[in-house]
Amino acid sequence: MNDDNTRKLFKRFSFLSKANLSDGFGCGDGWYKLVYDMCKSLKEVNPPNDFAIIKIAERHNELEVHSKNGVMRTRVVIDEFNTASIEVCAGCGNNRDLEQCDKCIVPVIEYPEPEEDEQTQCTNCSTDPCACPAGGCSSCSSGSCNCP
Ligand SMILES: [Zn+2]
Repeated sequence: MNDDNTRKLFKRFSFLSKANLSDGFGCGDGWYKLVYDMCKSLKEVNPPNDFAIIKIAERHNELEVHSKNGVMRTRVVIDEFNTASIEVCAGCGNNRDLEQCDKCIVPVIEYPEPEEDEQTQCTNCSTDPCACPAGGCSSCSSGSCNCP
């Protein structure tokens, strides 16, 4: 996560501190809002005074949060956002379908519409040129076919 977002989170939430999170947050900026919302929810459940988050990172496409002095209500919030993270791309914050974010993981390649192949193949015998015996093919559109 970039410095700007990292600083904002440190500033806003007392249970996030540089002492415990010296490397900041090990996830993409796409999760800034997710992490922010999680911290907001944690604050709302009124965590114990000594509650602290000691790790926030992306692990196997999921938000991994380690805390100390947590209680059941903080655990519930963390679990909830761990589950929510599965559907949010850590790269861009867009919804994603499990580990696939079309925007970040699969490069967008515009394939030109395949040109309609001019049909030269005999639909009867499926070879080009037609190998039907003369007079035996009734549905050939091949120019080199000897169909009658
Ligand atoms: Zn993405």
